Amino acid sequence: MQDFLTERNIKYRKDVSFKKISFLKLGGICPLVVYPRSESEFSAALLKARGLRVKFKVVGRMSNILPPDGIFAGVLISTSLMNHISAEGTLVRAECGCSLPALSSYLAKNSLSATEELSGIPASVGGAIYMNAGAYGREICDVLSSVRVFDMNASVFRELHKNELDFSYRHSVFQDSEMYVASAAFDTRRLPSGAIYEKISKLSAKRRANQPLTLPSLGSVFKRSNGISAAALIDECGLKGYCIGGAAISEKHAGFIVNRGGATAADYRKIVEIAKAAVFDSFGVKLEEEIEYL
Ligand SMILES: Cc1cc2nc3c(=O)[nH]c(=O)nc-3n(C[C@H](O)[C@H](O)[C@H](O)COP(=O)(O)OP(=O)(O)OC[C@H]3O[C@@H](n4cnc5c(N)ncnc54)[C@H](O)[C@@H]3O)c2cc1C
Repeated sequence: MQDFLTERNIKYRKDVSFKKISFLKLGGICPLVVYPRSESEFSAALLKARGLRVKFKVVGRMSNILPPDGIFAGVLISTSLMNHISAEGTLVRAECGCSLPALSSYLAKNSLSATEELSGIPASVGGAIYMNAGAYGREICDVLSSVRVFDMNASVFRELHKNELDFSYRHSVFQDSEMYVASAAFDTRRLPSGAIYEKISKLSAKRRANQPLTLPSLGSVFKRSNGISAAALIDECGLKGYCIGGAAISEKHAGFIVNRGGATAADYRKIVEIAKAAVFDSFGVKLEEEIEYL
C-alpha cells in the first residue's frame, strides 16, 4: 500500500497514535493513515486497499468511533484534507471532510441559512451524512439536495438525489453499501448574517449548558429507543458519575461517556455494557449503540 501511495504522491502517515486523531483522545496505534486531497486520490486509495484485501475504514473526525487500545489491523483513510466549500447562488457544495462547524460558519458569513441546528455537531460532512446526524429537530438530510458518491462496485462517482439515500433516524444507505460520500450539495436560503449568528450562538449556549463539552467524548453513546432518550433511562438507574479507570458517565448528561484522563477503550466498553445491563434490568429496554467500534 505504501509503495502505491508514494508513487502516486498520496499523503500518508505511519504509526499514528489514536490519542491524537480520535475525538475521545484514547487508544493505541494506527499503522497507516492515508490523507487523500482530491476525489481521484480518494477513489485510488479505496480501490487499492480493497484490491490488496487490506482492512480499511474511511474516517472523518472520529467523533463517533471508539478506537482499539492496541494496534489497529488495517488502514484508515482520513478525509480531513478534502474540505473545500463552494457556492453557486444558494446551492452550496462541501467536500466530505469539511466539518459541520466550518460549513456553518461559511454559510453564516455568506448570509445563507441551512445548518444552524447542526453547527455544534463536531462531525465531517461525510460522517454526518453516513449517520444522518441531527440536533434540535433537524437532521442533515433535511438540508441536503444531493450527494456525490464514490460507488466502489462500479468504480464510478455519481450524483444521487437525497431521496435515493434511504435516510431515517441515524441511518443512511452508506451504512448498507459500498458507497462513500465525496461531497454534498446543500439547499440554503438567504437570511441576514446577524440572524444566523444569533441562532447559532443560542443553540451553542444550550449545548454547553447540557453537554460535557470540556471533556473528550463521542457524544450520545446510545440511540433513542422508541423515542425515549437513553440518557433519561441511564440517569434513572443512578449511573451518573459512574466510572471505570479514566472513563465515566457524565454527571451533566447521562448519555455521554467522557474521558476524564487516561481512559482506555476497554474502560469505555465496560461502562457501555454496565449501562446496557442496568437499563435492561430496570426497564426491559435494550439500548443500541449509536457509536461504532473500530
Ligand atoms: C461532543 C459531541 C457532540 C455530538 N453531538 C451530536 C449531535 O447533536 N447529533 C448527532 O447526530 N451526533 C452527535 N455527535 C456524534 C458524531 O459527531 C456524529 O455521529 C457524526 O456524524 C460523526 O461524524 P465524523 O466525521 O466524526 O465521523 P466518524 O466518527 O469519523 O465516522 C463515523 C462513520 O461515518 C463513516 N464515514 C465517515 N466519512 C465518510 C464518508 N466520506 N463516506 C462514507 N462514510 C463515511 C465512517 O466510516 C464511520 O462508519 C456528537 C459527538 C460529540 C463528540
